[in-house]
Amino acid sequence: MKTLAIVPAGGTGRRMGAAVPKQFLPLAGIPVLVRTLAVLQHSPLIEQILLAVPAADVVQVRADIVEAHGLTKVTAVVAGGAERQDSVGNALREVPEGIEIVLVHDAVRPFVTPAVIARVVTAAQEYGAAAAGLPVRDTVKRAGGADRVVTTVEREGLWLAQTPQAFHRQIIVTAYERASRDGYVATDDAALVERMGGAVRMVPGDPDNVKITTPEDLAHGEAILGRRRPDGPLSGAAGGESGMRIGFGFDSHRLAAGRRLVLGGRVVPHDQGLLGHSDADVLVHAICDALLGAAGAGDIGRHFPDTDPAYKDIASVLLLRRVAAIVAARGGRVCNVDSTIVLERPRLAPYLDEMAANIAGALGVPPGRVSVKAKTNEGMGIVGAGEGAAAFAVVTLAGNAGE
Ligand code: MG
Repeated sequence: MKTLAIVPAGGTGRRMGAAVPKQFLPLAGIPVLVRTLAVLQHSPLIEQILLAVPAADVVQVRADIVEAHGLTKVTAVVAGGAERQDSVGNALREVPEGIEIVLVHDAVRPFVTPAVIARVVTAAQEYGAAAAGLPVRDTVKRAGGADRVVTTVEREGLWLAQTPQAFHRQIIVTAYERASRDGYVATDDAALVERMGGAVRMVPGDPDNVKITTPEDLAHGEAILGRRRPDGPLSGAAGGESGMRIGFGFDSHRLAAGRRLVLGGRVVPHDQGLLGHSDADVLVHAICDALLGAAGAGDIGRHFPDTDPAYKDIASVLLLRRVAAIVAARGGRVCNVDSTIVLERPRLAPYLDEMAANIAGALGVPPGRVSVKAKTNEGMGIVGAGEGAAAFAVVTLAGNAGE
């Protein structure tokens, strides 16, 4: 059944106490919202995503979050409302014809896994409405004034609800219409369905599927990233005991007159530039391939075919940002990048630090983790004859995580 995801990211981050709303804060270098969207983007069950953000941020989010990270399943960025429920309600009105299942997932739960998404969607298909959650294992007390216990609540049957939650389209649309008519507000979507007598099926979520809403949560999130183990693409025997993966990339391009020479996102003054469909940044292409290789995610040609006009003359560092999102979605964290450009002329030494900084910026890692070196080919071969340039890159990914 055709499934669409709604991601309410309308919060202004009051609880985080930061100038930037919490969903835009970086978690190990990549915004929480990008991490969340990337998991949905790479779920084969999700056909498209509607993102609701504060009205003032719509244009910027479309450019800096959606387009910059290649989140092509995000087909619309809509203005959210004052409360979460208003944001989901606004997005629901934009759900196109043909969608049968609507999944709602919090923008600030970046550790949702494809397995949890699959459980929720499958249960919603079968039962009409489903929510991820965790059975309560601790003893539950209800306290009154002065924190004095009023009663110990029977925990049998109690769940802590998470997202994602998913619904047959008509069920959630009707639930929202009735809640809106009655002025009823709840803290999750399933509650609106329960209120009209609908059955909601609980399915196991994941203990790591936490909300990032406080500065402590960010630290906790980094710890989760660091220890995540694997039952996804970067896991198990393929990931190795250490959880480290290495990727190697190579690329070469011809030099030609009338082109800009772009290396590591830096325009290098020269009378020739590299020929290619994009800006032909041979260094960045090698690094993209090394990252994709380490993540087991194919190569640059598969993700950004040179037959696609969308990539004509594109700055390759923009592709690198998209590759970073692909790697993050597969649970990889960039440990370090080492690279070498082979080019006869011009001398590149003055530009290497800036190239490394550009690459580190695109990957969301500190500059010290990216090394860019350059050498000539000592006059040998095609590169030595000044007819082209080549680049080599290796990367290491850590935290191999899973899904
Ligand atoms: Mg290339």
